[in-house]
Amino acid sequence: MTYLRVTDLRDQRLTAAQLAAALPRPELDVEAATAAVAPIIRDVASRGAAAVLEASERFDRVRPPHLRVPREALESALAQLDPEIRSALETAIARVRAVDAAQVRADDVVEVLPGGKVVQRWVPVRRVGLYVPGGRAALPSSVVMNAVPALTAGVEEIVLASPPQAEFGGLPHPTILAACALLGITEVLAAGGAQAIALLAHGAEDLGDGRGLAPVDLVTGPGNVFVAAAKRLVRGRVGIDAEAGPTEIAILADAGADPRLVAADLISQAEHDPLAAAVLVTDDEALVGAVESELERQVAAAPHAERIAEALRGVQSGAILVRDLDQGLEVVNAYGAEHLEIQTADAPAIAARVTNAGAVFVGAYSPVSLGDYAAGSNHVLPTGGTARFAGGLGVQSFLRGIHVVEYDHEALAASREAATTLARAEGLPGHGAAIDIRFED
Ligand code: NAD
Repeated sequence: MTYLRVTDLRDQRLTAAQLAAALPRPELDVEAATAAVAPIIRDVASRGAAAVLEASERFDRVRPPHLRVPREALESALAQLDPEIRSALETAIARVRAVDAAQVRADDVVEVLPGGKVVQRWVPVRRVGLYVPGGRAALPSSVVMNAVPALTAGVEEIVLASPPQAEFGGLPHPTILAACALLGITEVLAAGGAQAIALLAHGAEDLGDGRGLAPVDLVTGPGNVFVAAAKRLVRGRVGIDAEAGPTEIAILADAGADPRLVAADLISQAEHDPLAAAVLVTDDEALVGAVESELERQVAAAPHAERIAEALRGVQSGAILVRDLDQGLEVVNAYGAEHLEIQTADAPAIAARVTNAGAVFVGAYSPVSLGDYAAGSNHVLPTGGTARFAGGLGVQSFLRGIHVVEYDHEALAASREAATTLARAEGLPGHGAAIDIRFED
């Protein structure tokens, strides 16, 4: 049985909207999952910690002994961390920090006219909640990807949530706790899924240790479709970053691509989640056959073969045949993949023509899994086509621009006519009067 369903677009002339509709998308999308998580969020909002504990028993099959992870557990996780994993985490932290440092913005001061200036101040969000996945696999790398930009932006208070693990006594995975300790994050919650997102957004009167939890101002981080749906539902009460749901990889490849690498990269993302999407876009029919043979060989040998096969055969995955790379670019731009690999001749030139993607990986030596861990780029990226209007997590996700307006008497006088004319045009004379009054004796 083949893995990738083939869609042949070579003879098709489609508008952008028709193209978007012809591309593979998951059956259980974020919108559908909101029905499943809305009652959980309502329950946590009204009953707090008790509702979180019940949801943990139901979905994580463990009742955490502490919703707030004790400090000693964080310290002992770091003390017991395998030195090789510690060193790899430190490499990842240093690289993301280096990239993030370049995103720090000084205030922009613009003198609009003599005596009149507008300053754009960049102010960090005060208190943020970071979500780190831990359902099928615990992702300590997501601690790094969430926390480093938040810390670089100057966020004052960070609280991090990750699902409790039955095999670790109802605490989050020890490597996640160790990564928190490494980054100096001390407020950590043993909570996953929609219940964690609701807890971060609503706070709680008492977490079971006699202390409350203050709600956050912004929730960020990746997760499965239920986490993405929960973030959508709390948006407005708190801010969220992009919708970073089940992972997606699209690969734009031509006849020169190596089918071994293409197959390995599709598998590397399919192993995340049965809902993960793996899409190959190519102008070479022979490559599709060669990638299929490689998938058969490599999936059979993979430890998570079942999950990978389900993701590859899902309606959200497939191979798309295009006439040429120009049509291939139309397809990948219409799809707006979370991760897009370019494995073609002159890959940098093709990559420069990509307008919709969470992140772009150029050439044979920039696989997505490098970006997952140690490229220095962020792995919390928009999914489900939201890359059309959203970018990945970064320092800017934790900052707000505040305009500070400072005009003196002369500058206001020079602006009086424009402002009062527009006030009259809008039928709002009080606006004009508030300016005119400043020029009356
Ligand atoms: P997770 O922590 O995201 O989800 C686990 C939680 O899901 C559980 O605690 C549970 O509360 C909830 N859940 C499970 N089944 C449910 C149901 N039927 N109804 C309601 N809630 C339910 O961990 P995971 O499941 O391993 O998923 C991790 C996800 O993160 C993967 O999909 C992966 O692709 C994604 N990811 C995305 C990015 C990105 O930037 N887009 C980055 C890394 C990981």
